[in-house]
Amino acid sequence: MSLESFDLIVIGGGPGGHAVAEEAARHGARVAIIERNGWGGTCTHRGCIPTKALLACSGHYASLKKLSRMGVAAGAATYDFAAIRRHRDQTVRIAALGVEKSLEGAGVETKTGEGRIAAPGEVICTAPNGETESLWACCIVIVWGSEPATIFPPSARILTSDTFLRLAALPKSIVIIGGSVIGVEFATFLRSWASPSGSWRYFHPSSPMRRKRPEPSSKRN
Ligand SMILES: Cc1cc2nc3c(=O)[nH]c(=O)nc-3n(C[C@H](O)[C@H](O)[C@H](O)COP(=O)(O)OP(=O)(O)OC[C@H]3O[C@@H](n4cnc5c(N)ncnc54)[C@H](O)[C@@H]3O)c2cc1C
Repeated sequence: MSLESFDLIVIGGGPGGHAVAEEAARHGARVAIIERNGWGGTCTHRGCIPTKALLACSGHYASLKKLSRMGVAAGAATYDFAAIRRHRDQTVRIAALGVEKSLEGAGVETKTGEGRIAAPGEVICTAPNGETESLWACCIVIVWGSEPATIFPPSARILTSDTFLRLAALPKSIVIIGGSVIGVEFATFLRSWASPSGSWRYFHPSSPMRRKRPEPSSKRN
């Protein structure tokens, strides 16, 4: 196994990783970046990009429904969730390709695979086909992101933001736990297609679901 030498190795091709890699390469460093899933990381594949693509669709749909109030008619507004998903996936593909091209344009060596620190300065990259490559650098930056937090074990009915984005059909009703940006965006998206049978509720994390249970009454006496 050969040992390729770099000034900097970045593990993780999300927004954090590609910004570091590109900036270092622009300053003349020899840089390699390793990504195991998709260029652009969570933001491109399970975060900012797919959610904004979905919100663009639901926003246009909501605007269409309001147009008649302004005296403009465009016929009855309809939607096709399969086409919406295709639009989202196409947007994600273009964004991921953009990240990869931008890295290559900055002179960064892109490597697809799982990065593992084997020894000080040494990183092993295992490609999807199982082939390994050994890289060396005096500086290694670990930018391998995070996973969605779960209160209950995920299942077909208990979704995380990752599994929500994989749904093949819109749910008829849903409870969203977490009223911060991601929860609000999902609720805004779902609300736009609201039907009489649909229902959506929020639970802010400070709601009673997260509060401590009261002590048994015997202990209180
Ligand atoms: C639903 C949702 C919506 C969001 N919307 C927005 C938004 O609108 N605006 C905004 O600013 N932020 C948004 N975010 C947050 C944003 O996605 C994150 O802040 C950002 O992706 C973090 O970047 P990162 O590089 O630190 O990690 P990540 O993007 O998670 O990237 C880490 C990468 O490292 C890779 N990796 C991990 N381990 C290894 C390994 N051993 N070898 C090789 N590769 C590895 C992973 O595959 C991943 O691609 C959103 C997040 C979610 C979940």
